[in-house]
Amino acid sequence: MRQKLAAGNWKMNGLGADLAEVDALRAAHPAPASQVVLCPPATLLERMAGRLTRTPYLLGGQDCHAAAAGAHTGDIAAAMLADAGAAFVILGHSERREGHGETSAMVAAKARAARAAGLAPILCVGETEAERAAGRALEVLADQLARSLPDGSDAPLVVAYEPVWAIGSGRTPTPDQIAEAHGHLRSELARHLGAGVAGAVRLLYGGSVKAANAAAIFAVPEVDGALVGGAALRAADFGPVIAALDAAG
Ligand code: PEP
Repeated sequence: MRQKLAAGNWKMNGLGADLAEVDALRAAHPAPASQVVLCPPATLLERMAGRLTRTPYLLGGQDCHAAAAGAHTGDIAAAMLADAGAAFVILGHSERREGHGETSAMVAAKARAARAAGLAPILCVGETEAERAAGRALEVLADQLARSLPDGSDAPLVVAYEPVWAIGSGRTPTPDQIAEAHGHLRSELARHLGAGVAGAVRLLYGGSVKAANAAAIFAVPEVDGALVGGAALRAADFGPVIAALDAAG
């Protein structure tokens, strides 16, 4: 049985005052059955870690550098995230692939660094609208996955299917499209890692998940949870998503 997972990606949002949302979320959902990971901007990692100590909530980073340390101004090493209290790190988000020119080879190197620091990578893959329209969605997912996977070890790994056109747009794929993508990713994972290791990888859906659509998305086969952006910023929005995931478990 794979434990359900809800990961909240705050992206470049949040000041100290917004940590009140974390307190409100914990108060409303003190003991979620699902694993819940909050990924704030780097400036809030330590302070959020303080808020999450002795709670079931976990902390994650939004990116890391592939090198262990060195002359990389503005970057964060995986060991620094772990030192700040993180257990997970989002890697290969489409906003990094597009906005920072990250290739899948770079994502794989970051995933290796994350594992070396004891972090579980949340590896993002997803097709653009043009790729889906061209009938290439599954091919793109398989290619990104194959090139982004760190190695064949059985260390914890999470893969997030995030169609680029669904992120922050309010649009979502149909349940059939999500089921097809997740089924394909599961079988590709089995091809690369073996069925046993692949069976332990949690597959998240990401892209405009909110209270109104969460239950329908979590009912789709092979959906082990969600990577949530906009709706993770406020307790009033993220709480119902966590509740829907708990109900699906
Ligand atoms: C994301 O950025 O990973 C994401 C899924 O964003 P949103 O939920 O806002 O679409």
